[in-house]
Amino acid sequence: MRLTEKLIESSTKLSSFSVEEARSRLESGLKLLDTVLSLKEAILFQRESNGNLVSAARLRASTSTSVETGRNSTWRQGIKLCERAIKTGEIITQELDAGELGTSIALPLRHENRAVGALLIRINNQFDNEDRALLTAVGAQLARSLQREEACKSAARHSRISFLSARAADRRLELLDVLNGLLSEQGFGLSALSEVSDGMAIAYLDGTIPYINSALLRFAHITDEQARDLNLFALLDTLRTSVFHEPAIAVRRVLQTGVAYERELEFPDRTGTFGLRISLVFDRSDQESHQPLCLAVNVRDITRVKEHEQLKSDMISLMSHELRTPITSINGFSELLIADDQLPEQAKEFVTIIANESQRLSRMINSFLAVTKLERKDKQEVLKIPLRLDEIVRETVMNLQPIAKKKRIRLVEQPNQRIPPVAADKSLISQAVSNLVNNAIRYSPERTTVTVSTALEAEAVRVSVEDRGFGIPPEAVDRVWEKFYRVVREGQDKDEESTGLGLSFVREVVEQHGGAVDLETEVGRGSKFSFTLPRL
Ligand code: ADP
Repeated sequence: MRLTEKLIESSTKLSSFSVEEARSRLESGLKLLDTVLSLKEAILFQRESNGNLVSAARLRASTSTSVETGRNSTWRQGIKLCERAIKTGEIITQELDAGELGTSIALPLRHENRAVGALLIRINNQFDNEDRALLTAVGAQLARSLQREEACKSAARHSRISFLSARAADRRLELLDVLNGLLSEQGFGLSALSEVSDGMAIAYLDGTIPYINSALLRFAHITDEQARDLNLFALLDTLRTSVFHEPAIAVRRVLQTGVAYERELEFPDRTGTFGLRISLVFDRSDQESHQPLCLAVNVRDITRVKEHEQLKSDMISLMSHELRTPITSINGFSELLIADDQLPEQAKEFVTIIANESQRLSRMINSFLAVTKLERKDKQEVLKIPLRLDEIVRETVMNLQPIAKKKRIRLVEQPNQRIPPVAADKSLISQAVSNLVNNAIRYSPERTTVTVSTALEAEAVRVSVEDRGFGIPPEAVDRVWEKFYRVVREGQDKDEESTGLGLSFVREVVEQHGGAVDLETEVGRGSKFSFTLPRL
C-alpha cells in the first residue's frame, strides 16, 4: 500500500496529472503534426490491455472527406494498418484507395518498451522519407502523453483499488512509466540550455556540477574530458581575475545573503569583457520556506555592450569639449556688446537673448560633461573628507533663494540638531543637493513650498527635498534616475531647460559614496526625493 501511495504521490508532484491536461496535450501534438505535414486527417489510437485499439484524439482538415463517413471498411483498414505497425514496430505506409490521392501512414507509439497505441495519418501526397525522423520524434512525445492519459483514466476508475490484487501491481507499473516519462521531460530544460550563447552551469550545494553547457566550457577553456570531474571551485578557478580573485569568498557571500554576485571580468590572455553572475536558485513553488536548491553560474560575453558604452561616452565627451570653445566666444562677445552703450535698443535686446541662450547651452554641456566624467571615475578617486550634510543643505538653500524667489516659491530648510558627519566629496555632494532643490523649484507651480531637511537614520544620514509640485506618474518613477530620461507633462513650458541628466548625476554621486537614492511621489500632490550617505 505504501509503495502504491508513494508512487501516486511522486507522479502527481511532477505534473498536474489531470485527464483534461493529458487530452489537450494529445490534441496539441496532432496540431503540430498538421502544421508541418498538412494532414487530411490524424487519429490517435490508444491500445487497451486486451489489445484493442480505441480512438483517443483526432484532427480533421475541414475540406477532406473523413474516414468515418459511413465507410467502415476504411476505418477497419486503418486499424489493420496500425496493428501491423505495432506488431512490426515500423512505420507502415499505404496508398489511398482508388479515387483518392494521398497516403495513409501508421506509426507505432511505444513508451517504456510497451506499445501504448498507434498514430494513423492521411496526407495529400506521398510520404517523404525525410519526414520519418520527425514523425518518430513527435510519436515519442505522443506516446508519453497517451500513456499519461491512460494512467489518469485508470486513476479515476480505480480510486479505491485493493492493494494486493494483480490490478494494483499493474497500476504501480503504470505509474512508474508515467514517472519515467516525466523524468525525461524534466531533462528537456537542461538540454535546451546547450542552445543558448550564454555560459550556464548548475552546482549542487555540495559543489558538484551536474550540468555545464558547452558555451561555458568554451569561456572557461575546459575540455569535455576535464568537465567530467569538475566541481564548482575548479570551475570558478578558471575564471579568476584581478577583480575576481577569491571565488570562495564570493560563493560564501551568495550562500549567506542569497544576493547574486556579479562582476565584469577581463582576462589578460584574451580580448573582451565577460559578465559573471553567481546566484542562489530558490524553490519557486515553495514561497514560504524559501529553501535554496542550488547555485547557478552564468557567464555572458558583454564585449560589444562595453564597446558601445565607451563609444557613446567618448563621443559625448568629445562633442562637449569641441562645443565649449565656440560657445565661450559667443558668450564673451555678446556680453561685450551688451555693455556697449551705443548699441541701439533693439539690437541690445537681441544680443541679450544670444547671451542668455549661449549660457543655457553652456550649462547643458557642463551637465553632460559632469555625468560622463563621473562615470569614468574610480571610487577611490573621489576625494572624501568629513562633511556635515546639514551645512551643505544650508549653503545650497541660501544659494538657490534668488531662483526660488523669482518663482515665488518658499524655500525652507528644516533645522535639525546633532547630525553626524559623513565622508564625502564636497563639490559633488553640493552639486547633487543643488540638482534636487533646483528640480523641486522647477517642477512646482508658483506660491508653493519646498522643504529641505536632514535626518539621522540607523547607520546613515538622509537628505530629503520635498515639494508640492507636479509629481511623477507611477510608470516613470523607476526611470527618472536614468540618463537622458525626461517626464513629458501636459502644459509643459517649451522653454524648460531639460537634459534628463540632473537626477542621473545625483544617483551616480550618491552610489559612488556608498549611499542610496529614493523617491516618493504622487501626481498633482508633490514629490519627496531623498538620498542617504553612510555616517562616519
Ligand atoms: P532634467 O530636469 O534636466 O529634465 P532630471 O534628471 O533632473 O533631468 O529629471 C528627470 C525628469 O524627472 C525631469 O524631466 C522631470 O520631469 C522629472 N522630475 C525631476 N524632479 C522632479 C520634481 N521634483 N517634481 C516633478 N518631476 C520631477
